[in-house]
Amino acid sequence: MWSSLREVFARELVVLVDPTNPQHARRRKQLTVAVGTVFTLGMAAAMGVAPRNAFDDPLAPRVEQALRMPDVRQQLELLTETDEQSVYVRQERMQRGDTIATLLRRLGVDDPDAQSFILKNPTARGLFGLNPGQTVQAEIDDSNLLVALQANLGGDAASSRELVVERVAPQKDGGDYTYRARIASVDNDVHYEMASGAIENNGFFKSMDAANVPDEIVSQMISIFSGVIDFHHDITRGDRFRIVYEAGFRDGAFVRNGRVVAIELINRNTLYQALWYSPTDGEPGAYYTFDGRSMKRPFLRSPVEFSRVSSGFGGRDHPLHHKWAQHKGVDFAAPTGTKVFASGEGTVEFVGQQNGYGNLIILRHAGGYSTYYAHLSGFAGLRDGQHVGQGEVIGYVGSTGWATGPHLHYEFRYNDVPQNPLTTTLMEAPTLTGKSRSEFLNYTSAMLSRINMLRTYNVLTASN
Ligand SMILES: [Zn+2]
Repeated sequence: MWSSLREVFARELVVLVDPTNPQHARRRKQLTVAVGTVFTLGMAAAMGVAPRNAFDDPLAPRVEQALRMPDVRQQLELLTETDEQSVYVRQERMQRGDTIATLLRRLGVDDPDAQSFILKNPTARGLFGLNPGQTVQAEIDDSNLLVALQANLGGDAASSRELVVERVAPQKDGGDYTYRARIASVDNDVHYEMASGAIENNGFFKSMDAANVPDEIVSQMISIFSGVIDFHHDITRGDRFRIVYEAGFRDGAFVRNGRVVAIELINRNTLYQALWYSPTDGEPGAYYTFDGRSMKRPFLRSPVEFSRVSSGFGGRDHPLHHKWAQHKGVDFAAPTGTKVFASGEGTVEFVGQQNGYGNLIILRHAGGYSTYYAHLSGFAGLRDGQHVGQGEVIGYVGSTGWATGPHLHYEFRYNDVPQNPLTTTLMEAPTLTGKSRSEFLNYTSAMLSRINMLRTYNVLTASN
């Protein structure tokens, strides 16, 4: 199996990895835990025993942030001991159109001093950045005065930034209460969630919804495989996937999803696997195949954003049915305005209009390659000679020039001769070498034997 995997990737274009993750040591540790967890989960699943943290309440909302509950008892005890005051805790969600005044009112706070502090204090004004649906929690005393207010400002799966506004006792007897605001970093508990499923008739995104894969995990999936799979053309009914990803929890409450740590996709009977790995030599973390090859490629398989809107566009009746051989390019049907990405790193050789092509961008890449992006509705402020990175937005889908409907006409050329980007074979994938490689193989060998065992149990089935 692994030699055939190697063949698959040897056919692909490859380049070394560029993502950044300064916290690689921590990640690596988490991943080690993840791997253990993943395959423990996998084994349990194989035997029909659903472990709690992976399968608990699959319908629970996964995009909304929940707030951690403070240890209220402790505070209550403290307050009871000191000044016999009671503290009430209330939690509300931000609503569209909320002001600080309406939010505080719903929280039961009647405290003009606190309100004016929040309006003026730059840190406390972080509340204005919250989105509808996000949670704010207030502690108030018997007189409806604010004791403390907390809101989660975001972060990653491993930690959250929490805004805290708190009342400060007067310095001297008879003095006034003051307030202070601070942002605290709080550690989350990282759990590993598993999702698996198959692509059904209703398309990629609906199938992901059916398998309860959160949107942010879906976009990571698309990005991880962007060098090997053209999601617009390649994904098809019957493709299967299995994903393991981090999810951060605070005191049992879901906070946010994190990184995909391991993923498998069977696309048209070809198995693609990727694993997040941070070498210990200081290289940034990245996705690798299980035999240590980078998932990065010099060119994206699809230079058009793959989204809920663009994925089903055109359908079977769309007039675009050009074959590559007929016009030396690949067409991507997508609504006008859909983002077009630089498929590889390069420089802008041409940006403007050309007969037939309409609005056209030509990028020049290393090694004699160039790419053409035609029929655009607009450009993303490009100049001739400008450097662009892979995946950078360069323009927007349109129907300028000779186009029957909005689509991107994409050409991939070598020494100015159009190639079929879907079948072109280029360099061998670079692999981890030296110490990194032996560490990686060490790390994956345990996983491989477990995965092979899982296969015998046939966990990855079309039904789930
Ligand atoms: Zn075309």
